[in-house]
Order: sequence, then structure tokens, then C-alpha cells
Amino acid sequence: MQTVDFLISARWVIPIEPAGVALEAHSVAVHQGRIVAIAPTAEALGRFAPGQHIERPSHVLLPGFVNAHTHAGMTLLRGAAEAATLDRWLSEEVRPLEQRWMDPEYVRDGTALAIADMLTSGTTCFADMHLFAEISAQAAAEAGMRAAIGVPVLDAPTIWADSAGECLEKGLKLHDEYRDDPLVTAVLAPHAPEALSDETLMRVRRAADELEMPMTMHVNETAEQACADVPADPARRTIARLERLGMLSPLLVAVHAVHVDAADLERLARGGVHVVHCPQSNLKLGNGVCPVPQLRAQGINVALGTDGAASNNDLDMLAELRTAALLARGLFPQATVSAHEWLEVATLNGARALGLSESIGSIAPGKWADLCCIDLDRPQTQPVYDPAVQIVYSASRDQVSDVWVAGRALVTDGTPTRIDLTGLMERARRWGARIAGRGTSGSA
Ligand SMILES: [Zn+2]
Repeated sequence: MQTVDFLISARWVIPIEPAGVALEAHSVAVHQGRIVAIAPTAEALGRFAPGQHIERPSHVLLPGFVNAHTHAGMTLLRGAAEAATLDRWLSEEVRPLEQRWMDPEYVRDGTALAIADMLTSGTTCFADMHLFAEISAQAAAEAGMRAAIGVPVLDAPTIWADSAGECLEKGLKLHDEYRDDPLVTAVLAPHAPEALSDETLMRVRRAADELEMPMTMHVNETAEQACADVPADPARRTIARLERLGMLSPLLVAVHAVHVDAADLERLARGGVHVVHCPQSNLKLGNGVCPVPQLRAQGINVALGTDGAASNNDLDMLAELRTAALLARGLFPQATVSAHEWLEVATLNGARALGLSESIGSIAPGKWADLCCIDLDRPQTQPVYDPAVQIVYSASRDQVSDVWVAGRALVTDGTPTRIDLTGLMERARRWGARIAGRGTSGSA
């Protein structure tokens, strides 16, 4: 008998790899934070002597969701900016609020709130993009959550850095600091092509190439952004510009890609660029819908993200999944993306985009035990013919019973194990009152 830290026996295990299967009555053995084996429960009980045997008789065990794009530090603005277009939302609401309130404490509390929102809805890894990236990294590390922390790069000066050069310096420092960290990695986050000069984009690309750091960037969220310089000239479209600058590579994670024409798609595919689909944020800001089936038909890796809580307004990947699946059905009825494929989009494809697919994104021996358990024993998810279909089209976040990151139980019985929820809610309420102008000017 092989000794392991714990064994999870579930009614179904959806490993994502191999694709398209739900294994009945299987168990996953975990030791020292990593997956040791996946086997039929009867066999696993004979092979392993677990320190703890966790039985989940009506549950699906699957890899934790990878939220491939968010702005965790913005979470205190949830519901505070409700303009119906991206331009007005950003210039009239978000930027003034951020100028007034953003500081390290705001980012720390917003990120902690985001982490609680994400963990309790089954997400085990998030890709972030926010000023004070070092604070977001600390918050993730303290919570024990996996994160790819995007270090923003902007030409315009901010409260956090005076120049793109200073942003890059901070990015390289963060990269060094977390080089050997098992949970947190640093990635570069050039904000968007229209906000950056050619020179800055090339500097970012050189740093990314040298250190093999992924770059995450908003691309073509609106029609104007798709052809920012000369709308009439197809050669001057944004994605053509990125290609000229050598940005289109497997290190680039293009977020949104809502407004893409056939030539854009060809360029993205040729470069091996990953795309993050953020359907709820795109819908809420009236930007349109990324043509996911067309991207997939070109062989482009599409991952899923919530974007920030200020434009979503939650960080719930189950809700995002259902929105994505329904939109694809409604807008592209000829293209079929199965429920199992959608689960891959929300897990392994995110890991692929972030350069983490060797270590997370599926239930396979040797990978980190980043797992989530969903209880299907509820009226809204019975009966079960295929658990993947129930997860994508019926289940909700309150059915997430357990979440492990690197084998550590961060959610048990639907409740976070390492977060002081009472204190966190109190801080969120105080921030809300201050931001709404009802609170005192003291520290939140
Ligand atoms: Zn975003």
C-alpha cells in the first residue's frame, strides 16, 4: 500500500485529459500537493493508504477553473460604474474613482475580496492585471491561491509608475521575486495596443522573449480599437501592427478579440496567440461577442475570463461558462462546442495560455492538485446523464463544495477555510461607504 496525504473519491471525475470523459466512481490520490494517481475507487482503495479519505458520493471532481483574465484589485468598484459603453465607463466613472481611492490598501482589500469570490465559485488560478501588482501577488500568496500576476505596462504615468520603463523594471523585479514560488508567477501586462508606443511594445516583447514570460494584453475589445490608426487601411489594423512589431507569438494572451476580421484571425492563428473570451463583461459594456467558434476553427487556443468585477459584475466562472456556451449556440448554431469542450476552455486552455499547462489544468499524475468539487445532488442538476452538461448548463456556484490548490483545502463545505470572511465583509462594507461618500475619511 502506498501512503498518500489524501484520497478523494467522487461519483464522477472529469479529468479534462483525456478529453470528453466523465469517469464514474473514480478516486484521485494526492501527496505533497500533487496528483499521484486517478483510478477506479475500488482499485484506489486497495492501492493507497491515505491519511484522509474524502468521500464525495454525489459530486463531480474536476480541475479548478482558470480565470484567464481579471482585475482583482478593481473589485471594490463592483456596481459603482454602470455606464453602458467602455469609453464612458472608463473615462467618466472608473478612472475618477481610481484616482480618488486607489492605494496599496485598496488593492489589497479588493484583491482579497476577489479571491474569496473566485475560490468559492471553483476557481483555483487567476490571471490578473492591476496597478500595485506586488500587492496582488502578496494577497494571492497569502491566500494560497494560484495566480499569474500581470504587471501593467503603460506609457502614461500612474500613481504606481512614472513610465513604461519603470513598469518594466517592476515587472522584472516581481518575476525575480517569485521565480521559485509554487503558486505565483509574474507575467507582463501591456495594457492595450492603443495605449502603447511601438517602442514600448517592442521593449515588452524583448523582455517577454528573453524571460519566456507570457504577455497579457487587451486587444480589439471595441470596433475602434480594431483599427485604431487608419480605419480604411486593412494593413493598418491593430493586429497587423502587432504582427509588424513581432508581438504575435505563443507568449501573447490577447484578451477580448471581439472585433476580429478574417485577416486578423489568420494572423493570430499564424502567431500561435492565445485568446481570452470574456463574454459577460463584453456584453455588459455593449462591446459585442468574440466569435469563439471561428477562432477555434482556426486552431486558436481560446480560454475564458471574467474580466473585472467592475464590468461583469462577479468573478464566477460557472456563470461565465454558461454565458459563453449559450452565446455560441445562439450566434453560431452551425458550430458545435460540446459541454466537455467548454470545460476544457475554462480549465486547461487557460493553463495553456498562461504557460502553466505542464503543471495545472487537468487531473493528471504529477500535476498540482488544483481541484474543485461540485455537488450535483440538487433539484436543478438532477437527473444526471452527463455531468459536464449539468455543470455548463445547470449548476451554480453554491454547488461548489470543495476547492484545493496545490493539495491545500481552501474551500470545504462551500466555505473558505483560510479567509476571515467576517472581517473581509466588514472591510468591503467600509470601503463601499467611503467610495459612495457616506463614510469617514479614516483608513478602511
Ligand atoms: Zn480587462
